Amino acid sequence: MTPTNILAIVGRPNVGKSALFNRIVGRRIAIVHEEAGVTRDRVSARAEWDGKVFEVVDTGGIAFMDDERSGDVLASATKAQAEVAIEMASALVLVVDVQSGLSPLDWEIARKLRTSGKPVFLAVNKVDNDQRAKNVNEFAELGFEPFYPIAAIHGLGINELLAAATESFSAGPADAPTPPTSIAIVGRPNVGKSSLINAILERERTIVSNIPGTTRDSVDVPITIDGQTYVLVDTAGLRHRSKIGSSVEQFSLMRAERSIRTCDVAVLVLDALDGVTRQDQKIGGLIAEAARGCIIVVNKWDLAAEEDAKSEALVARHAKKKTFKDEYLAALRKELFFLDWAAVLFVSAKTRHGVTELFHDINVINKEMEKRAETPQLNRLLTRAVNAYSPPVIGGQRFKIFYAFQKPGCPPRFMLFVNAVNLLTPHYERYLVDKIRAGWGFTGCPVQIELRARERKIFIKKPAPNRAFRKK
Ligand code: GDP
Repeated sequence: MTPTNILAIVGRPNVGKSALFNRIVGRRIAIVHEEAGVTRDRVSARAEWDGKVFEVVDTGGIAFMDDERSGDVLASATKAQAEVAIEMASALVLVVDVQSGLSPLDWEIARKLRTSGKPVFLAVNKVDNDQRAKNVNEFAELGFEPFYPIAAIHGLGINELLAAATESFSAGPADAPTPPTSIAIVGRPNVGKSSLINAILERERTIVSNIPGTTRDSVDVPITIDGQTYVLVDTAGLRHRSKIGSSVEQFSLMRAERSIRTCDVAVLVLDALDGVTRQDQKIGGLIAEAARGCIIVVNKWDLAAEEDAKSEALVARHAKKKTFKDEYLAALRKELFFLDWAAVLFVSAKTRHGVTELFHDINVINKEMEKRAETPQLNRLLTRAVNAYSPPVIGGQRFKIFYAFQKPGCPPRFMLFVNAVNLLTPHYERYLVDKIRAGWGFTGCPVQIELRARERKIFIKKPAPNRAFRKK
């Protein structure tokens, strides 16, 4: 199981963050160095305590040495590390040093953490003799109570600290049943949405019960297939198509938009005979923009099957390189390039060919959505990617990634701490997303990148290509 809870260790240099990290992880991974501010190469690892699996991050190991503008590089890096910790952590441990006492930087970090709204646990480190134990009360001033006297090197007080810090973490996989996957079947009028829904509902072992939705024309249909439950969202009105004259297109777009917003996986239905139309692109654009799982269904493939069979025979005889389906797929990918990560299925609602595969793909996407990239692997992968192919220089500056992690929840979103948000070009962003996909797959899932620069501006990159379709 990949942990989703993150415990981040924060504090100024040399207070013993990596010693605490080692204690929690139980292995000597981080390099403990007497010299202040030495960069360590491993900053995050999986840990387990009292049956709870979590990720522990030693933010002190995150190198922010790019910041040469500041005179006090270490202090500035420490503050940047605190920002990372606040962003990624489920709980924070602030480490201070009883030996050197309270410092202005401790105050500054404490202030930052206090305003974060995240649970903060103060660990007063190096309390390894009675004399030092007498001095711990000085740290009460920081305002985090109770606080935890520890001696990380000797393993003293660690249990009490972890008991408190991991209290809110769940033990093992969540007990709560996972909610059913909601599926929106969207597309232009006449592409065969209702036929496809009927084909699904008429399938053996499909159990249907109608529950009226909140609005008059919306109905969510819960179904069970092979023991798995799903909800087909907003499917009313599909069987009796409304006649609203010239505004049919507009109406279908509005309807699609609403269903897409409420679903986990959007099934974009196309008519095999029409290919990809402008309206299909618009609906596809809505899916990309809403960042939902996506399967593109080329319906009415029975009508093209004859053509495809002929082409297959020609390919078999080496008279042709590509089958009709290959060519069709290539054209489709080009027209719907902004959904290049979506699964594509050729089906026939009429013959029910491909309907079983549809649910197979939905299950796959569901699993992919929940995948988590562990932080060390992610950072290694991104470092390799940047080393293999440098970002372009813009205005004399080059895009730089200090640290990255995957945010909890789905769809997969990656937070990158960078030198400046405007240095990431769409081309380079695509390169990074491709590398992430090469590492973890995320088939059928949108992958989003969020950037955070030192000035604490958040910049969410939207799927850029849709702009072309939204203009009109
Ligand atoms: P909707 O407006 O998207 O719900 O489309 P319908 O399901 O009402 O289908 C429109 C027309 O296409 C109907 O005449 C269907 O019989 C036909 N149709 C739907 N699916 C298929 C298919 O897989 N193969 C063929 N040959 N016709 C289909």
